[in-house]
Amino acid sequence: MLLVNELHVTHVRGRRVDPPADRRAALEEAFTRQERALDEVLTDEDADRLADVAAELHPAFTGDVATLNQALVRHAAVPSLHGDPPVLAFHAPGADLVDAWAADAGTALAMVIGVGQGRRLRSCEAEGCELVFFDVTRNTSRRFCGLSCQNRAKATAYRARRRT
Ligand SMILES: [Zn+2]
Repeated sequence: MLLVNELHVTHVRGRRVDPPADRRAALEEAFTRQERALDEVLTDEDADRLADVAAELHPAFTGDVATLNQALVRHAAVPSLHGDPPVLAFHAPGADLVDAWAADAGTALAMVIGVGQGRRLRSCEAEGCELVFFDVTRNTSRRFCGLSCQNRAKATAYRARRRT
C-alpha cells in the first residue's frame, strides 16, 4: 500500500499530485512518517524500479487478479524460509531488494484475495483521490481513505441534493 500511495497515485484527496521527482527520498520519508525501519539501503535505481512495482500492484486494489498473477511470476514469488530463526518470506533467497519487496507485497495481496477478502482491498471513492487502503471494518463498509475525503464527498453530495 505504501508503495502504491507514495509512488504511483496521481490524485490525492482531491488534488492532483505529481509523482515524486526523488522517489528514494519520498520512500525514506514515508517510512520515517510511519515510524517503520527501512532496513536496506535504497538506491535511486531501486526506487525507480519500485515505482514500476507500485504500478503493477495497484490494479489488485480494483480486483484485477491477472495483473497480480503476472507480477508474482515476474518477481519470482516463492515461499522460502530466511534467517535463523527461520522467518517465512515469499521471495527466493538470492532475490534483489526490489524483486523481494515486490514478491512479498504481491503475495500479501494475493493471500488477502485468495481467502475471499479481496473486497477489503479498496481504492478511495472520493472524487479526485486514488489512495488505496485495507478496509478493516467488520462489514467492509469503508469507502474513503480518511476523514478529509469523507467530508469532501459528503459536501459534494449535499450540494448535489440542493441543486435538484
Ligand atoms: Zn481519498
